[in-house]
Amino acid sequence: MNNISDLEKNQCCGCAACYTSCPVKAITMFPDEEGFLYPSIDKEKCLDCGICLKVCENVVFYENEQKIYACWDKEDENRSISSSGGVFSALANIILDKGGFVCAVGYSTDCKECFHKIVTSKDQLDDLRRAKFVQSKKYDVYARIQILLKAGKKLLFCGTPCEVGGLRQFLRKEYDNLLTCDLICGCVSSPEVYKTYIDYLNNKYKSRAISVNFKDKRKGWREKAIAVRFENGEEYYNSILDDDYCVSFHSRYNIRPSCFHCKYRNLKRVSDITLGDFWGIEKYVPEFDDNKGTSFVLANTQKGDSFIHKMSNMNIFFMDINCEQYSSTYNWCLHKNPWDVSIENREQFYQDIKIMPFDKMAEKDLAIIKEERKRRKLNLK
Ligand SMILES: Cc1cc2nc3c(=O)[nH]c(=O)nc-3n(C[C@H](O)[C@H](O)[C@H](O)COP(=O)(O)OP(=O)(O)OC[C@H]3O[C@@H](n4cnc5c(N)ncnc54)[C@H](O)[C@@H]3O)c2cc1C
Repeated sequence: MNNISDLEKNQCCGCAACYTSCPVKAITMFPDEEGFLYPSIDKEKCLDCGICLKVCENVVFYENEQKIYACWDKEDENRSISSSGGVFSALANIILDKGGFVCAVGYSTDCKECFHKIVTSKDQLDDLRRAKFVQSKKYDVYARIQILLKAGKKLLFCGTPCEVGGLRQFLRKEYDNLLTCDLICGCVSSPEVYKTYIDYLNNKYKSRAISVNFKDKRKGWREKAIAVRFENGEEYYNSILDDDYCVSFHSRYNIRPSCFHCKYRNLKRVSDITLGDFWGIEKYVPEFDDNKGTSFVLANTQKGDSFIHKMSNMNIFFMDINCEQYSSTYNWCLHKNPWDVSIENREQFYQDIKIMPFDKMAEKDLAIIKEERKRRKLNLK
């Protein structure tokens, strides 16, 4: 066989570049028993042309000299509602002000699904802000982006490193009018487990979730918390150390198998700009730290660097530090695999999630992990 079905499951990040690249639409993205999407080939349609495999293998890292910045928005208005320092919104505003398009991850109206959306106005931006702890669905977004780029439209694409890689591997050409932004990403979780959790909360609060924030900052940037608001005016708020879904994600259960072997987790990056949290900023420059969120910003290309300096209203400080040393000490997800192997009773977790309410499953499968994590007071990045 000369197609993507040859690929081992733990090597497939679900970026959907193969799906979009297939010239005869022989590939669909289909959920497995854990709820992660994988390419499935219609053998009747497949020409065995091998394009899907080539696209998958063609990862191109930028090799330029990189620059590190500490950035945060001078206005609390954007910063307080962003996960870190608000850099994503500042970059999006530059592109939107020029009549361009922004593609990043938003929620479905019932908050049960996350997917890449393309927006054209600042009113639509809030949905795309903030980290969502679930793998986004891509549908046909790469193909829609290609049409816009070919028409000369300016576009900002933001996603995990594998999604930026997937887009560029699909495009197979550099576009001056495309700005790419990836995140320091530890891993992504199952869309199905996420949906099950929202269903569980809806049931518990006898209402419908209208917003989900995995990085609520009301108690500060370091007090990581999830906040879910409901149609009936109620709110669920909890530390991510205590929230069952977040524990399932930040433990080794609810993680896409390929995240254990991520080929994009590298000091060399596939995007123009890499965004993350500047954990450890208090050790480098204490006066930069007010616990409201400071972004770690890595310029990987000249284009990325020039956009960083175009951000108005932003404090931008060049940090003359060694990237590998920084990452190894404070933010290892930039270049090191967070976990070596999958957890032993992973299979049990995915079975239980289908037959038990979320809290009962957590009592059974996550209790030990929760206790252990709290005891060790692990600093979840
Ligand atoms: C799953 C995940 C894990 C992360 N892990 C780390 C980490 O270990 N260390 C670290 O320093 N930073 C991590 N981050 C990045 C960090 O949380 C901030 O998102 C980032 O610094 C940008 O913040 P901001 O204030 O500039 O913009 P924000 O307004 O917070 O923008 C976030 C951007 O990320 C996009 N996004 C949100 N969720 C997803 C998703 N599920 N898939 C793809 N794109 C998404 C949004 O659409 C938006 O473009 C992670 C983000 C995610 C989504």
